[in-house]
Amino acid sequence: MKKTIIANWKMQLGFRDSQMLIKELKQKIKKTNSEIIVCPDYLSLSSAALVFKGTHLNLGAQDCAIKASGALTGEVSPASLRELGVTYVIIGHWERRTVLGEDSELINTKIKSALTAKLIPILCIGENLAEREAGLAKKVLLNQIKNALKDVKIKTTTGLIIAYEPIWAIGTGESIIPFEADTIHSFIKAEAAKVMGKKVRVVYGGSVNSVNANEFLKQKNVDGLLVGGASLNAKEFSLIVNN
Ligand code: PEP
Repeated sequence: MKKTIIANWKMQLGFRDSQMLIKELKQKIKKTNSEIIVCPDYLSLSSAALVFKGTHLNLGAQDCAIKASGALTGEVSPASLRELGVTYVIIGHWERRTVLGEDSELINTKIKSALTAKLIPILCIGENLAEREAGLAKKVLLNQIKNALKDVKIKTTTGLIIAYEPIWAIGTGESIIPFEADTIHSFIKAEAAKVMGKKVRVVYGGSVNSVNANEFLKQKNVDGLLVGGASLNAKEFSLIVNN
């Protein structure tokens, strides 16, 4: 199966830099065996949609609202994102969980709202360092899976992606050992399948770069990567994609 490589630009770039990176990616990433999903901030989605049209670069949003329309100041409708040409949406990234206080109930609602709008959710889960050191990683992941995916229905195995992102590895330069990621991914796939009845893709995120990407991609249960910092440079990201 094709590996899925996701670029999460977060709020790292200004508007002009985002426009430049969008164009650079179109030029640099011509041929690849992977499925590529680029997630700029909301402001750059429409220009990315125009530039990426007809290429194999897919567009993702970094979040979406809990419903398609209504009085929700400051929120962005998943239906509007779909209209724009967005196909994926990251939901429950740890920065939103911790800095912005998103809880499992909200994340579950957003997943359902995204699916209703025919967007493919990329659900982020992961344990923090204290939980890992206390041997609680699997318990934490299981809770996140059960709560985020409660009553979530997808038609096919491609209808949702889970990103396993150990919190201690995000933006720290310290990634998990690829073989350990493989074991955890196998666990996540099995547990998510118990909840949804479908074995979905599980990608790894946390300090991935052009040097370590290949070791992760070689693992059987690592279906791809979610890349933060290293996706902000077109050359570095194209090296990861062409691994
Ligand atoms: C992320 O924030 O989802 C992420 C994986 O970041 P980084 O690659 O920079 O660790």
